Amino acid sequence: MLTKRDFYINGQWVAPAASRDYQVINPSNEEPCAVISLGDQADTDAAVAAAKAAFPGWAATPPKERARLVAAILDQYNARLQEFAEAISVEMGAPIDFSLSDQAPCLPWHTKNFLKAFEKIEWVRPLGPEAPNSAVIMEPIGVVGLITPWNWPVNQIALKAIPAMLAGCTCVLKPSEESPLNAMLFAEFCHDAGIPAGVFNLVNGDGAGVGSQLSTHPDVEMISFTGSTRAGKAISKAAAETLKRVTLELGGKGANLLFADADDKAVERSVLHMMENTGQSCNAPSRLLVERSVYDKTVARAAEVANSIKVGPAQEAGPHIGPVVNKRQWEQIQGYIQKGIDEGARLVAGGPGLPEGFNRGFYVKPTIFADVKPGMTIEREEIFGPVLAIIPFETEEEAVKIANDTPYGLTNYVQSGDPTRANRLSHVLKSGMVEMNGKSRGAGSFFGGVKQSGRAREGGIWGLEEFLEPKGVSGYDFTLKTAAE
Ligand code: NAD
Repeated sequence: MLTKRDFYINGQWVAPAASRDYQVINPSNEEPCAVISLGDQADTDAAVAAAKAAFPGWAATPPKERARLVAAILDQYNARLQEFAEAISVEMGAPIDFSLSDQAPCLPWHTKNFLKAFEKIEWVRPLGPEAPNSAVIMEPIGVVGLITPWNWPVNQIALKAIPAMLAGCTCVLKPSEESPLNAMLFAEFCHDAGIPAGVFNLVNGDGAGVGSQLSTHPDVEMISFTGSTRAGKAISKAAAETLKRVTLELGGKGANLLFADADDKAVERSVLHMMENTGQSCNAPSRLLVERSVYDKTVARAAEVANSIKVGPAQEAGPHIGPVVNKRQWEQIQGYIQKGIDEGARLVAGGPGLPEGFNRGFYVKPTIFADVKPGMTIEREEIFGPVLAIIPFETEEEAVKIANDTPYGLTNYVQSGDPTRANRLSHVLKSGMVEMNGKSRGAGSFFGGVKQSGRAREGGIWGLEEFLEPKGVSGYDFTLKTAAE
């Protein structure tokens, strides 16, 4: 078992102020895989103080030099990819091949896209020809608190820490206590890349402790949070007292509208997307809305695909899905499956209990319910497990109504061979993102939602600007050069 009790503060690994051990459990076998510490107020204060002290120097560092240092994190990643992917796999249950192909590479993917977008930032912008001496100066907001979940752990770290540092902010990361190991490796990458002391700090802890200490801290100017809608609301309230900027990426209940003219891979693609990462993705297409004329054959094909998905330990090679992250999550998913049955949905694949051949580990059968009605619990609530709800519809208008009748609004999906319809739907679906026919978001695009999915825009130029503040200046002399140019 790994011992990882220290925190990364001011460029060094330091012991926690008070000892509070926390065991990280390997969800594949329910054994502890590491012991970490949960920080307390003194640890949070030390990390924030280090970030605050480092801020003026880092903010004044020329953007090109910040970009060079941040880019050097990628050399560390390349040298330690296997170790990094294994950490993610063991702590949150992503199968090792998936961890290597999809989870870990989120770091270079986002970093490269941010570095490209960063080159386009105009640090001192003229307001316009009508106001020749008015300028807008883009400035880093200050010390930022980054609070991340366990499901795509390094994806979220990369979407926050990389743009924060590029923008000139200094930061304190509190990763999920369920997945701290990849975050601690990321801290090592920052250290070995030469990121100056205090620019990036990491304190492990839980939501009630370090999470809320960061959210209320008077020296933290902004909280960038990804996680549950519940925690997002708690953070917004906690941050209100100090009027911080709060950006939130929260849950989802994506609708996937499948029409009779969809291509013949659409059903398989939709089910596999739902089950990817064992259903633990906030943008999972968890409600499959199917045009009535192809409903029966779609349900049959979806069940076939779900039954073909293998479930297995994260450390085993192969294209299977792993366990869900922990016991609490497993029990919650089981509760939803039972609710689906009790409320009268038709179970066509999977169901309650462990998959055959398992007596330990947090494994869930890939499960599909058909004949789900709008308003049923499994249609309303985010399950965050491999459970798909299939709902029939008669008309496009009815499909849109069902799709939009949710408190969430992260990603909706359309499967249709009619580009006019697809475009039309992209305007009326209420979500931060719409994806057509399995096309994933392009390089440099953002990730983010509306309504109770939170309203952050992470990635690309939007993700960088979240960490910047425009300052309006009049009487600015544009003939003189500035450090940022
Ligand atoms: P969670 O909200 O319980 O925890 C997320 C992080 O917030 C953890 O680091 C946790 O310690 C911390 N936290 C919890 N309560 C807090 C509080 N009161 N104050 C401050 N910090 C607090 O969520 P989770 O169980 O780790 O992740 C699953 C949830 O995250 C799902 O609902 C999922 O949809 C959502 N999610 C959203 C996105 C997105 O981009 N929209 C991405 C991933 C996950």
